[in-house]
Amino acid sequence: MNYEVALFSDEFFNTFPYHDREGWDKPERLLAAINGFRRAVPNAINIKPQTNGLLAASLVHSSDYVSFIEEGSKLERSNIYGPTYIVGKEDAIFSKPISHKGLHTLYFFDAYTMADYGSCNGALLGASCAFDAAMWVKSADIYSVRSAYIACRPPGHHAFRNFGGGLCLFNNAAIAATVLKKDKRVAIIDIDVDHGNGTQSIFYESPDVFTFSIHAEGWPYVSGYVEEIGKNEGRNTNMNIPLPSGTTGEIYLEKLDIVIEKVKDFNPGYLVVALGFDAHKDDSYDGKFGLNASDFARISNKIKKLGLPTVFTQEGGYNTLSTFSSSRAFFSEWMRNEP
Ligand SMILES: [Zn+2]
Repeated sequence: MNYEVALFSDEFFNTFPYHDREGWDKPERLLAAINGFRRAVPNAINIKPQTNGLLAASLVHSSDYVSFIEEGSKLERSNIYGPTYIVGKEDAIFSKPISHKGLHTLYFFDAYTMADYGSCNGALLGASCAFDAAMWVKSADIYSVRSAYIACRPPGHHAFRNFGGGLCLFNNAAIAATVLKKDKRVAIIDIDVDHGNGTQSIFYESPDVFTFSIHAEGWPYVSGYVEEIGKNEGRNTNMNIPLPSGTTGEIYLEKLDIVIEKVKDFNPGYLVVALGFDAHKDDSYDGKFGLNASDFARISNKIKKLGLPTVFTQEGGYNTLSTFSSSRAFFSEWMRNEP
């Protein structure tokens, strides 16, 4: 069997400045992840996005939300955060905002995610990468197993069908899974330290996509609990494993074994990994997990033994040093010999 891997990325991701109020999503963090990948897989081909990002995003997101992001992509100014937390409260009376700034209230679940020129064009290119990566993985010949790494920013796993948040505008993992599930069932394993709340919600009633998330308990406060198991036809195709702050590699890998067994039972044709490096002990802004780079290699080893064509989407990972070492360890193991 031939194991091929490609990098789906674009120079634009490395150039636009941070777009969130707290300055988390900096270009340097993605460069660190890409450099780790390149060090691990120096001969990987680099594919630039081709598909129209609006079309790719529309596979998952509502047309009015996609239009809001399209509007943002044409702006030139930054610092346009809107006030939030009003919409959805039972006794709030509100009219739909008119201005782009005002629409932030409607389309983001927090007050620090921003739809400006950089984040919106980044999100559109990310959606293109997600579509193209899924198509590339699908089109392997029978002698090859392909995997694709989407190195993009902003990240995606906190984006819902009709709104974004947590730095995320479009859900790249969900876009890739939607393309892949047209052929065969898909498992999504989210190893970012935060709950993949957007991805969970998008596939909550889908029996053909099994969504797993291993994350630090707590944020985003209202989801990520074990009792969230899917609904209607999607019942029993959603699994959350919340773990306490400070969880180290030993416990994490034991829990990952549970996920791996469940994936095998589900018997998917494809895998999507929402790949955050923020479970590293030096990363998490509240010191959430205690993993080190070699733990990321062990995670990679367990996942690659599934032997599935895989799309990786870049999610969190904010410390450049630990992101570089985690990415290098993860992908070195991924490409070491065959599964
Ligand atoms: Zn995260």
